[in-house]
Amino acid sequence: MLKVTNLVKSFGALDVLKGISFEIKQGEVLAIIGPSGSGKSTLIRCLNYLEQPQQGIIEIDNARLDAAKPTKKDIQHLRSKTAMVFQNYNLYKNKTALENVTESLIVVKKTPKAEANKMGMQLLSEVGLEAKRDNYPVTMSGGQQQRVSIARALAQKPHVILFDEPTSSLDPELVQEVLHVIKKLAEQKITMIIVTHEMDFAREVADHIIFMADGHIVEQGPAKEFFANAQQERTKKFIRQIT
Ligand code: ATP
Ligand code: MG
Repeated sequence: MLKVTNLVKSFGALDVLKGISFEIKQGEVLAIIGPSGSGKSTLIRCLNYLEQPQQGIIEIDNARLDAAKPTKKDIQHLRSKTAMVFQNYNLYKNKTALENVTESLIVVKKTPKAEANKMGMQLLSEVGLEAKRDNYPVTMSGGQQQRVSIARALAQKPHVILFDEPTSSLDPELVQEVLHVIKKLAEQKITMIIVTHEMDFAREVADHIIFMADGHIVEQGPAKEFFANAQQERTKKFIRQIT
């Protein structure tokens, strides 16, 4: 349902993605791991066209975007099918939890406000935050803000949710509440791509793992095999270091 073929991205003379190809099926969870600077964030940002790749094909839900010459419509389509959850939540500071969740419903989907609020409350309850509906981001913990941002992503009803290190800004005691929400989404077969350093979480929740280094996919495979039986020396070393 999402297929990436030979994605290439450079910043000036710096080649960051050197031909990335992979596929993810509906209902699957893909974890992307790898050392700092290997291009994980750049890759996930390209999938939402927050970064513009120079080359490659991104296919999602029967639409095909040629990164070398995308049309406005291709980009809009890609963005409508993907939702990002950022490391630093990126909530609207001047909007309440509920308003953050309903914004896209009201502004993009033109949902009537009463209906949007009802849907928003349902989503807030899915992330355990009904009681915080009227709170502004500054009055919520990092974990709560990240859960609002997950509810906001869900509101778009995307084909795939893209997470860039969703727990790495959080104090250790807040990490689990966010991972718990993501785990629940995995059980509901929500398709997700997650850049993470949480290896236990990746092992437990992801169906598939991609290990990136220096802008390449060094190794990829089903999570169980990947951790139990990595083939490449570089992968083994990374797994040893991080676990
Ligand atoms: P980390 O684990 O630290 O988050 P990462 O794997 O997400 O690392 P990226 O953020 O994708 O790595 O960065 C890959 C490379 O691209 C790095 O060398 C980085 O400095 C460079 N880079 C990223 N964004 C830009 C940009 N907007 N302009 C120039 N260089 C960039
Ligand atoms: Mg990153």
